[in-house]
Amino acid sequence: MSPTAEQWAAAVAAVRSAGPDDEVLLICHVNPDGDALGSMLGLGLGLRRLGLTRLQATFPGRFDVPEPYASLPGLDLLVPESAAFADPRLVLVFDVAAESRLGALAGRLTGAPCSVVLDHHATNTGFGQVRLVDPLAAATSVVAEQLLDRLGVPLDAEIAECLYVALATDTGSFKFDMTTVAVHELAARLIATGIRPGDISRRVFDTRPFGAMKLTGEVLGRAVLDPAAAGGRGMVWTWATLADLERHAQPPYVLDTLIDPVRSVAEADVSVLVKEVAANEWAVSLRSKGAVDVSGVAISQGGGGHRLAAGFTGYGEPADVVAGVRRLLDDFLN
Ligand code: 5GP
Ligand code: MN
Repeated sequence: MSPTAEQWAAAVAAVRSAGPDDEVLLICHVNPDGDALGSMLGLGLGLRRLGLTRLQATFPGRFDVPEPYASLPGLDLLVPESAAFADPRLVLVFDVAAESRLGALAGRLTGAPCSVVLDHHATNTGFGQVRLVDPLAAATSVVAEQLLDRLGVPLDAEIAECLYVALATDTGSFKFDMTTVAVHELAARLIATGIRPGDISRRVFDTRPFGAMKLTGEVLGRAVLDPAAAGGRGMVWTWATLADLERHAQPPYVLDTLIDPVRSVAEADVSVLVKEVAANEWAVSLRSKGAVDVSGVAISQGGGGHRLAAGFTGYGEPADVVAGVRRLLDDFLN
């Protein structure tokens, strides 16, 4: 369920308990996307407006900000994991469904005197002291904006750009089921600060290197359609290797949105994209149009996500990973 009045009050008290000299660490998930970075930096800028000065934002793993997010306001808050405060007074966590997504930074959360978790995954495992987890929120930035409001921080164009990128990313540019009246009202409040949605969208969604286009062509070209899967509702899948990225000299982020053309295939309800992240280790993206609760599939494999969009880490050959998913689909038919 959505956060209670007590949880909101506890979150406000936690933030207010931090003085200007206290170290405050913001953390989002590994391989950060627009919602992870946008909600974290938007809230971080808000905390700066409140007078907190010892602020850091970080995420586990390779310290690589994907090009689409490389001009977000508040990027000066970002530090690599290795430079993050060792014993912060307050830790805030963004868009993280499970502690495993924090890597070695999970210890900062458990060690801190005070921690606040902002998230919107129904599969959130319930870690952290104060939990602002709203499965009805379209993005973690929805939760972040509500916290800023309760802290009395007015929206400005910099904060708004961060929150807008997060909101646009997680609603698939205002296309997904969660795109409610409240989402559009929030978008309107953000745009009213003077940000330019056209410029932001072009930068975030519609600008990719030539090599990324060629790579996309190859990965889509090898897609397989399996009409009998998911109780006859159909599954389409494809895979991308580290060698594919290397051949086209592309960074991993260019694969982040590749599930979108795959999931648009009319003949399949379920789509699967298997992306190599290390030798024999694959980040598996799952999408459904409604026939299957793919978060159930993901959880059963140690991952998580939302009912119609989820993921997990798989091992072995891509075809075997997908065969495993195919077997599980029948258990989670709606
Ligand atoms: P994507 O396929 O875009 O990487 O992720 C889709 C959704 O599933 C996101 O909400 C993401 O947070 C979640 N997700 C993806 N991979 C994992 C994973 O390995 N573990 C968990 N807990 N959630 C994941
Ligand atoms: Mn999110």
